[in-house]
Amino acid sequence: MSDGEFAWIQELAAQFGAGRFPDGVYGIGDDAAIIPAKVMGASTEEARWVVSVDSQVSGVHFQPGWLSWPDMGRRLLHVGFSDIAAMGALPSLALVSVEVGVEVTAGHRQEFAEGIAAACAEMDVRLIGGNVSGRKEGFSAHVTAIGVLERSAPLLRSGALPDDAIFVTGHLGAAAAGVEILRDGRSENSSAAQALVDAYRHPRAHWRGGLALAGMSWVHAAIDVSDGLAADLGHLCQAGGVGAVLDGGAIPVSPAVVEWCRETGCDPLDRALAGGEDYVLLFAAPPNALKERELKERFASFGGEVWRIGTITASGPPSINRGGKQEHLTPHGYDHLARGNDAQR
Ligand SMILES: [Mg+2]
Repeated sequence: MSDGEFAWIQELAAQFGAGRFPDGVYGIGDDAAIIPAKVMGASTEEARWVVSVDSQVSGVHFQPGWLSWPDMGRRLLHVGFSDIAAMGALPSLALVSVEVGVEVTAGHRQEFAEGIAAACAEMDVRLIGGNVSGRKEGFSAHVTAIGVLERSAPLLRSGALPDDAIFVTGHLGAAAAGVEILRDGRSENSSAAQALVDAYRHPRAHWRGGLALAGMSWVHAAIDVSDGLAADLGHLCQAGGVGAVLDGGAIPVSPAVVEWCRETGCDPLDRALAGGEDYVLLFAAPPNALKERELKERFASFGGEVWRIGTITASGPPSINRGGKQEHLTPHGYDHLARGNDAQR
């Protein structure tokens, strides 16, 4: 068995099957699974459930003190439904399972539930079940996120075509910088540091954007940026058997990252490429000025934004154009099974 997280997922895909099954189920290999309603006994051919599971584990995804209990609950749901958004599905139902250490009080549990309730209200999701288990110490929570897909062709990671334009639906780099500030115990006092920590603590699933993309049949492929732009673009290219060139000057680096890098001497673009947990959507669509305008207007209608950041190519590893120089894009994404991981990156 291989060491890395992604290699293990590939082995599991070979063992259990992946992609589209003959009955229309899409299994391992994308942001979420797709289940035709008819497989679950429904009479209609069209409707499909989109299902994914995600975890937040103390000591791995966060350290005690990084998140308030309500933030933990809210964050769990938004992160879970980000994968549903990436498939173009409407958030619908959730199940939440928790493992609760002895130090966690009834008050903490209630506050956690309040965060879950806030996220449910924000996305119009219903909590329909879950599980509670005790453990020695610490806290883990797992969400099963279920959405409804009404698009006739699913919005998958695969499907990007050479010459497609590459877009993202939000600023990049802030959450990972926020984690760094918390991990290193740096001051959160500057306005930039506060904004970065806030981006980590309060992610939001771009589900309105996902629905907008689902309504545009000409959008070819999508993924959410959870591992970092470079890593997730790599996943999209690998799934579609294509390459990509990013335009370094067009990438929407978080303004707080720019300010923070000015204070600390880091490179804002590097941070935007490597930083994970942004939970914006990354997608590929034909390079057509009219369609691009339609896209921007559609996103503006709900206060969303899109940035065009590059072009899909026929092959080759993803690269980036930085000030006229083309460089290979190194995926710095977080691998949960990489050797030498201590708690949190
Ligand atoms: Mg994802």
